[in-house]
Amino acid sequence: MAEVLVLGAGMVGVSTALALQARGHDVTIVERGTPGRETSYGNAGLIQTEAVEPYAMPLAPGALLQIALGRGYDVKWTPAGLISQLGAVVGYALNSLPAAHRRATVTWGKLIRQSTERHGPLITAAGADNIIRRNGYIEIHRTPARMDQARQTSKRFLDEFGVEARLMDGGELRVLEPSIKIEVAGATHWLDSWNCADPGALVAAYAALFQKKGGRIVNGDAGDLHRKGTGWAADEATGEHAVIALGPWSPMLTQRFGLTVPMVYKRGYHRHYRMELPPHHPIADFGNSVVLSPMRRGLRIATAAELTPHPRLSPPQLKHGERAARELFDIGAPVEAEPWTGRRPCMPDMLPLVGRVPDQPNLWAHFGHGHQGFTLGPVTAEILAEELDGGPGWAELQPARLKRG
Ligand SMILES: Cc1cc2nc3c(=O)[nH]c(=O)nc-3n(C[C@H](O)[C@H](O)[C@H](O)COP(=O)(O)OP(=O)(O)OC[C@H]3O[C@@H](n4cnc5c(N)ncnc54)[C@H](O)[C@@H]3O)c2cc1C
Repeated sequence: MAEVLVLGAGMVGVSTALALQARGHDVTIVERGTPGRETSYGNAGLIQTEAVEPYAMPLAPGALLQIALGRGYDVKWTPAGLISQLGAVVGYALNSLPAAHRRATVTWGKLIRQSTERHGPLITAAGADNIIRRNGYIEIHRTPARMDQARQTSKRFLDEFGVEARLMDGGELRVLEPSIKIEVAGATHWLDSWNCADPGALVAAYAALFQKKGGRIVNGDAGDLHRKGTGWAADEATGEHAVIALGPWSPMLTQRFGLTVPMVYKRGYHRHYRMELPPHHPIADFGNSVVLSPMRRGLRIATAAELTPHPRLSPPQLKHGERAARELFDIGAPVEAEPWTGRRPCMPDMLPLVGRVPDQPNLWAHFGHGHQGFTLGPVTAEILAEELDGGPGWAELQPARLKRG
């Protein structure tokens, strides 16, 4: 059994540490802050068995024009945000074309479909059942055209991946979610997905489980990672192997070890709002590019993607999301003075990096889970742990693909 350093304590790092520990390794996490307080804190809390297709960039001419003109709320950008990651964004756009997207979906779908099976035992062992709802989530469709599209999507997902969904008309939706005030064309209830009322607390509970089983968490800077003999050292900690699981901060570190990672950083925002009668499920209103999740702190309004290095104090996507939420529900004042913000770590080919860093013995990459890292952390952790133990790994997730261009 080996001594392993895991760098970063988001959902991905903590899941990696648990998977390695379960295989008998002696694991130390190096985290500069507190487990689960960055990207893995701020998400919409969905553990998504239905998200079988990775999120493609909208490429229809009308959608592209909207994005270019800064209209619409799905993707916003600033010149600095676009220029600083132009190569990665172009790569992402090319991989959003049907043939490439289809290829990514084959792998992505296999990962996603394992998510609740992998989270389930961890949730129970961590005593976190009180913050997990296993009742799916609801995607509303405000117009008949969107409802027609939804019928086709749910049929495709059922036929190809076995995803269970219930399609509802507006009246049926009102019965399920009486706090919705307006009549919409219909909704999809994605039945077998789960959701979490406090994503940061789930990561913290997984981290506490790891410590209870003898794992160590060192508060330190992983940016200091360096060779020590045949192994690695970061801050005060050492190990024979090191796994980079720093989410959106990972490329800064891999660069030092000869691996340039072209990442698309999709900024998202959230804010909680007081609400007396919250919905029973998270409500996705993708027509307005927003997910409304009932959380411990209130109704969390979470936004889509913004390509910008610097967060805005008053993000237009959040303002729009709040307007959409107020149409649907009676919601009160914001809970926080300022919105939270973080960046989804997205790979241009839409697949996370899981495997050996080329030409660096015993250095491993585990990041780039994009829109679904909260869902996928424990899934890809198992794949990485198996490879570290001598298994073949998944060829399509290997970091070496970046060297091949
Ligand atoms: C608005 C929004 C909504 C989302 N909704 C969902 C959703 O509903 N479902 C879903 O599955 N996913 C969702 N996601 C995506 C998901 O949150 C991310 O993919 C996931 O959290 C990434 O996890 P991670 O562990 O890789 O990164 P992080 O959670 O960011 O963890 C990285 C860790 O590394 C640490 N670190 C960084 N640098 C250093 C250093 N130098 N030294 C030591 N430690 C360091 C950080 O402090 C942090 O704890 C959403 C994302 C956003 C932004």
